[in-house]
Amino acid sequence: MPPHDPRPPPPLVIPDFVLRVEDLSHPGASIFFDCVKPREALKLAVEASYTWLYTSLTAPTNVKTITLVLRPFDGVAYTLGTHEMKEINFSLDWIKKSEARARDEILGVLVHEVVHCYQYNAQGTCPGGLVEGIADFVRLHADLAPPHWRPKATEKWDAGYDATAYFLDWIEKRCGEGTIRKLNGSMKDSKYRVDLFEDVTGESVNSLYALYCEHLERKSSGEISHS
Ligand SMILES: [Zn+2]
Repeated sequence: MPPHDPRPPPPLVIPDFVLRVEDLSHPGASIFFDCVKPREALKLAVEASYTWLYTSLTAPTNVKTITLVLRPFDGVAYTLGTHEMKEINFSLDWIKKSEARARDEILGVLVHEVVHCYQYNAQGTCPGGLVEGIADFVRLHADLAPPHWRPKATEKWDAGYDATAYFLDWIEKRCGEGTIRKLNGSMKDSKYRVDLFEDVTGESVNSLYALYCEHLERKSSGEISHS
């Protein structure tokens, strides 16, 4: 057994936050400031990313600054940047469209985008659907799933977003808390291999997905027979 290390784990690094609002007269800007405190919202998103993807010993320390840019554009949000400096662009038009449930939507989108600042992606080789599924897995676990999200069987296990998030959630329940954290960790230094799932869970992703689809099927026929 390794000797007991009496040192406390390193503190989680909360990066510097920068906010840039490119159109303060846009109604989405007023909604944003009415609903959230920007620093607290970003900090919550960083903490959710750490909680679901890392432990205090494995949390990465490379992200120094996250800049949030609020501006009008088609779409919802996207993230870009370098190893140390990340930039999240969030659409003021989308915030305006989400006015009825703006707080949860703003926090949910921020959690999703901040996950992209922190998650491992197998040196850029992780399938896009799994990258997006992990981001929405964290959003789901931060209790910020939009009301229309439902578990659903899709043709491919890595269809992405909420469809993959619920599949990952089912894997986490089946194989134990921390399974998706391990899956993320397995993509730190190596290229993506589909066998990563088997390494982490003991079962191939295809057989897990077949079991998951059977589970959904049973659930929906159970629901029908009880209605
Ligand atoms: Zn995304």
